[in-house]
Amino acid sequence: MILFNNRVMLLDGAMGTMVQKYKKTRDIIPDTLNITEGELIKKIHSEYIDAGCDAVVTNTFRSNRLTMEECGFNYKEVIKRGIDIARSSSKNILVAQDIGPIGKLIEPKGPISKESAFEIYREQVKIGKEEGIDFILLETMYDIEELDIALSAVDDFNIPVFASMTFDKEGSTFLGYTVNDMIKTVEKHKVVAVGANCSTGPYDMLKIAEEILKSTSIPVLVKPNAGIPKDVGGDLVYDVDEEEFAKDILSMIKMGVKVVGGCCGTTPRYIKRIREVIK
Ligand SMILES: [Zn+2]
Repeated sequence: MILFNNRVMLLDGAMGTMVQKYKKTRDIIPDTLNITEGELIKKIHSEYIDAGCDAVVTNTFRSNRLTMEECGFNYKEVIKRGIDIARSSSKNILVAQDIGPIGKLIEPKGPISKESAFEIYREQVKIGKEEGIDFILLETMYDIEELDIALSAVDDFNIPVFASMTFDKEGSTFLGYTVNDMIKTVEKHKVVAVGANCSTGPYDMLKIAEEILKSTSIPVLVKPNAGIPKDVGGDLVYDVDEEEFAKDILSMIKMGVKVVGGCCGTTPRYIKRIREVIK
């Protein structure tokens, strides 16, 4: 399946921090808004589409059974609605199902058995398959074991998948895994793109992108944060503006990165600026 047509693919920007901005609270699980405030989620997707992205990512980062049960929602409905909302934003856009970590560590590091972790991922992917999702974005992963389990769940359904881990500026996840570990793991599966998202701003991601690019021939994706957040009177303000963000993204494209987008703190303005510089 060719998703790229030999051109760089521009994903959208943050969902979570956009929801926080509109709702004026950080105390919210954005996924639940698929049920309670679908119009707001649709509006955010539409803003990114207007900004010129090639694909929108569903508001389903935390829509796994465990997390949704904890906040009193049915994960199936949340994911289905999330995909519907993204689809209804535009007929002519690719829709990626967003899947993040379960949020609890897997044995022996934590309480979740490998079997139930596999089942939790499988349930999410199954809905994506039934709803005809274009591809899956598995992102912000920090545990290599969990990444492996998630990719095994995707393998069963034959859906194109982009896999991304989150590294600090020294290049390790908070559990200590490296780019090398990630590449070894994704190469056991079929992934369309591999890369890094969240944790750092675009400048600190340059080195990580370089390392990923030289370790694999799989297309590489980057989705940095808009720098480092600072608490300004209760609001999180990120310290990299769209100009600087787009400049570093362009540098990474010149290095060979094929898929770009924005993570926490980015807004439609960032995506618009990237579209202008990569046109
Ligand atoms: Zn992020």
